[in-house]
Formats: sequence, structure tokens, C-alpha cells
Amino acid sequence: MFFHVLLTTECNLECRYCFGETLEDFDEDFADFDVDYALPRKANYDFSLLAEFCRRDPACVLTFYGGEPLLCTEAIKQIMDLAKPRHFMIQTNGLLLDRLEPEYVNRFHTILVSLDGDEALTDFYRGKGIFRKVVDNVKLIVQNGFRGELIARMTVMEQTDIHKQVTWLVGNSEFAFSSVHWQLNAGFWANDYARRGFRCWSETSYVPGVERLARFWVDRMEAKRAVLRLYPLLGVANSLLSNEDAKLRCGGGWINYAIQTDGYVIPCPTMWGMKNYYLGHIAQANPLKLKKIFVGAPCTECDSLNVCGGRCLYANIVKRWSSEAYATVCSTVRGLVNAVEAELPRIKQLITNGEVSQKDFEFMEYNGCEIIP
Ligand code: SF4
Ligand code: SF4
Repeated sequence: MFFHVLLTTECNLECRYCFGETLEDFDEDFADFDVDYALPRKANYDFSLLAEFCRRDPACVLTFYGGEPLLCTEAIKQIMDLAKPRHFMIQTNGLLLDRLEPEYVNRFHTILVSLDGDEALTDFYRGKGIFRKVVDNVKLIVQNGFRGELIARMTVMEQTDIHKQVTWLVGNSEFAFSSVHWQLNAGFWANDYARRGFRCWSETSYVPGVERLARFWVDRMEAKRAVLRLYPLLGVANSLLSNEDAKLRCGGGWINYAIQTDGYVIPCPTMWGMKNYYLGHIAQANPLKLKKIFVGAPCTECDSLNVCGGRCLYANIVKRWSSEAYATVCSTVRGLVNAVEAELPRIKQLITNGEVSQKDFEFMEYNGCEIIP
């Protein structure tokens, strides 16, 4: 099982799509949900309980998460000294990566670091000077011996040209990432759809950009005999190549859970405080016997469910966008799947020729990349 460990609810950034939207959504509450808004700001349970909880699952993976988890470096070190999961991972905005000693950083199997693309775009979304600090930190940890997987994790919305930004991340001379994941800012807030141009952007920029990106991805396979880990493309291609039916691909609610700052287990980090979805406390719960929660309508009636997997349990439950608005998100899912399907004959030919292997499309699932953006 995979567990996101929410170390703090605090963050040291004020990104447009998160902090900015929180302000715009200020008077919207979850009237239909019983929400605990008073969670402790920092993890306040005994970390030996977490170590014991983890010990009961021999394949346990712990991913530090927040807020910004590196605001809690002492807690990270204490947990890493106590717990013995199969792997540790972290999702971070990268600003404080230089504050954690290499002996800890180098134990991470995977680091997901938030970058939205090039300097201009990252700083537009995340604040001036953020790109430079994060890239300097990424270079530093590699210099200091980090050899795990480093994934650039983008949040994308209307200012993002997806083809331009992903190709920049993998091809730039500053720090070229071989792993990139992106997530749409869509369906998380109540008020934003009406004031945004999401539909127009998704139809005229995003989906055509994903199609170009899929062509670039396979061109690159042909030229370099290597498969870049562009997770949304990789995950869908892997499913199509292996004919597997997808379950919710982030794993939220069935294999990938989160542990709140008070020690309660919830289906996914975004569902913090939603009391109706508390699944037990780490002091008592068995990590291998947690209740499983799956997406409901409209996903259960959708003919794309077997490849999409349902996209997002949180969005499916809270339905912050109307069904008409959310249908535009589903169109992006179909656009992504169509883009990969269009390239599948070339991919299969490369595998047949031995230029790449089907194994190159495998990856550690539930590593924080939701696959369906
Ligand atoms: S395409 Fe939309 S409705 Fe269909 S399974 Fe995915 S998220 Fe659900
Ligand atoms: S995709 Fe949705 S359900 Fe999955 S982890 Fe993200 S917010 Fe949670």
C-alpha cells in the first residue's frame, strides 16, 4: 500500500492555482460534507505509531506530503530513522531541498518536485525567483549523490502551452528531466470555471498540444531508442500495450491513502478533514484492511472508464464543477487517450524491431503521478 504522510497543512508559497483560488473560493464551504477545518498544523501523533502501522504492510511506501513537507525536516528525519517502509518518497515544491542532509535525501526512491515548465511560466504561477531556487536545489541534490527518480510535476492551466513546456523540461540545458508528470487544475474549486477560459483553452491549445507531444515522444523513441517518462503518455500507453483495465490510476481510496496530521487515514490527501471518509486511525487501523472506496457516477456509466480509471475520486465525490463543466475535463481525457492510440502502431513497430522494449513502458504505479491529468 502507498501512504501520503501529510506532515503539515502549511506552505511557504502562494501559487495562483492554489492559494489564489483559496481566496476566490473563500465563502464556498462544503455544505454537504462534514469537514474538520481545525486539523493540527503539524503532524502531532507519535511517529512510532506510524512506524508500527507501516511495519504491518511489508510493501508499504511512505510519501511525505503537505502543505510543504520540507517545512518539517525534523519530522522527516525522525520518521526516516524509525520507520522501515519499502520506499520513501516526497512531493515537494523544492524550495527547501537544500535543508535536508544528503544522507536522508539520497534515501528517497522518488522525488516529485513542482515545476510548471520554463522560468517565465513557473514564476508566473508560483512566484518570482521560484524557478531559479528550485532548479539550483535539484542540481545540488544530484551533485550530492541523489540517484533516485526525479519527476518534474507540473500544474497546468490556461497559460500553459503543454507541448512547449514539456519539451522544454526534457530538453533544456539547465537541467533536463527524463520524468515529467502534469496535472490539470480542473474540478478542484467551486467558482473558477465560470470566470476561466478552460473549455476554449482545452480545445484549441491543450488537446492539440498533447497530440503534438505524443508525436514528439515517439519521434524521440525512434531517434534515441529510449522512452521518456512522460507519465500521462507512458501510463496510457502501458495500459494499451498490456490490455489492462485501469482502476483509479492515482490509487486514491483503494491502494493509495493519506494520513492526516492527526493520524486519521483518508482516501487521498485532498480529502483532508472530510469526516465521512475517515477510514480509521493509524493507532488501530490495519493498513492491509482499509475500506476501499471507488468512483461513482458519472464515471461508472462512462465508456472510457476502462482506460481512464475515473481520473479523480475527490472530484467525483465533491462535484465542484457542474456536469457540463466537468465534461470538458473528460474531453481532455479522451483527447489524451486518442493521442496515444494514434501513436500506438509506431510504438508497436519499435518494440517489434527491438528498438525499445515493452518493459520500458513499465513504472512504479501510484508514485504520485495520477497518470490521467
Ligand atoms: S472520462 Fe470522465 S466520466 Fe469517464 S471515467 Fe474518466 S473522469 Fe469519469
Ligand atoms: S487524482 Fe484526485 S483522488 Fe487521486 S490523489 Fe489526486 S485529488 Fe486525490
